Amino acid sequence: MHGYTDKQLEILGDAILAYSADRLKLDPVPLDQPHTLAELEAAAGGTITAEGIGGLKALELFGETLAPACISTDHPRYLSFIPCAPTEAAAMFDLVVGASSIYGGSWLEGAGAVYAENQALRWIADLVGLPAEAGGVFVPGGTIGNLSALVAARHTARAKAARAGVTGPGGRPWRVAATHGAHSSIQSACDVMDAEFIGVEVDDNMRLTGAELRKVLEENGPDTFFAVVATSGTTNFGIVDDLASVAEVCREFGIWFHVDGAYGGAGLAAESVRHLYEGIEHCDSFIVDPHKWLFAPFDCCALLYRDPALARAAHTQHASYLDVLTDAPDWNPTDYSVGLTRRARGLPFWFSLATHGTSAYSAAVERTLEVTRFAAAEIARRDHLEVVREPDLSVVVFRRLGWSAGQYQEWSDRLLAEEFAFVVPTSHAGETLTRFAIVNPRTSEDDIVAILDTMA
Ligand SMILES: *Cc1c(COP(=O)(O)O)cnc(C)c1O
Repeated sequence: MHGYTDKQLEILGDAILAYSADRLKLDPVPLDQPHTLAELEAAAGGTITAEGIGGLKALELFGETLAPACISTDHPRYLSFIPCAPTEAAAMFDLVVGASSIYGGSWLEGAGAVYAENQALRWIADLVGLPAEAGGVFVPGGTIGNLSALVAARHTARAKAARAGVTGPGGRPWRVAATHGAHSSIQSACDVMDAEFIGVEVDDNMRLTGAELRKVLEENGPDTFFAVVATSGTTNFGIVDDLASVAEVCREFGIWFHVDGAYGGAGLAAESVRHLYEGIEHCDSFIVDPHKWLFAPFDCCALLYRDPALARAAHTQHASYLDVLTDAPDWNPTDYSVGLTRRARGLPFWFSLATHGTSAYSAAVERTLEVTRFAAAEIARRDHLEVVREPDLSVVVFRRLGWSAGQYQEWSDRLLAEEFAFVVPTSHAGETLTRFAIVNPRTSEDDIVAILDTMA
């Protein structure tokens, strides 16, 4: 099985490279759409056999039957959820990472990869304004990033309480404060950790503020909290919380300040919105998903800590067969998150950043913001459409006056069935609405107009 001849390798290698290159050259890519299980069973049948069907056949099956049953997240009119639009450089380098059999968990095994990943992390740390000692790791996604940061926060708070000799219910802080606009992964992390999520009211502009946070902390007892989570770009609206006032309250009460920038952290690279993030430099931990708005392929979340030693104390796994790694003074990425074995998943992002330079990243993020502002203006200009909240970043939520929930859904289904666009309904305060999330620099003003024209 491992013994492909040079000839066989060449044939399959050429086919795979040709497939990948062709996919990258498509402009635009086909949007595609899901197929039913019955359709896939009829078209693909059983694919795993005792003798194997051979690489060329399996590749053909993928290209002709399976891939068309997957929506292309990089289609310029894919504006649902948060799309993923990698640069060609990042997508191509993903192939190299796969072919290189690198273990990205330890310096001993993956020094070169870890070195490069850490430079990419440093670029992000500088955008945030974190000190030279800051560091972290690329994890699969924001969910694991948030969980890992909260585990480090709780470990730190409990160690502090123990050192202070605090006993009783306040001695083992178990609460997390965040708004209900915070991402569902915060609640999910609380569930996993058996921690309690305490919701904080937002201000008139839908942001978490220090004043509301203070009320909640004082009502519940600040010592019962081990972390506050602010969001720098909520998923549904792209709202950046009032980070400066939240940071101040966290500092006053000595509570870990985590900033979830999974989607919106990328805006730090854009001069036009940079001011929204004031105060972020005080965070104890931060995440951003390069697979969202920083043009990297799935799955890639950058997790950073102000003081990585605190995370290391919480996350290092101890086992006799690992002693050779954990006793070394080296930077072992695996010590900073939940999980052990890891793909060097930061490398495609690093490669693209190294290739294009950071200015190109800033320009690409600005371009998506420009198209978002165009979309908001275009919506406001049309009588039957209404922006629900002016966008902070690159998400616009809007209503079609007179439409029921069913009409939004029918419209959305029709656009996908025609493989024209993928825009799903969302909701806010009980009302069905729709939403554009624009993170793909290929999404143009023309795409926006074409979609809005279908809502007349
Ligand atoms: C997407 C998102 C997450 C979760 O990230 P995954 O990579 O999907 O796990 C967390 N927080 C925010 C604000 C997000 O937008």
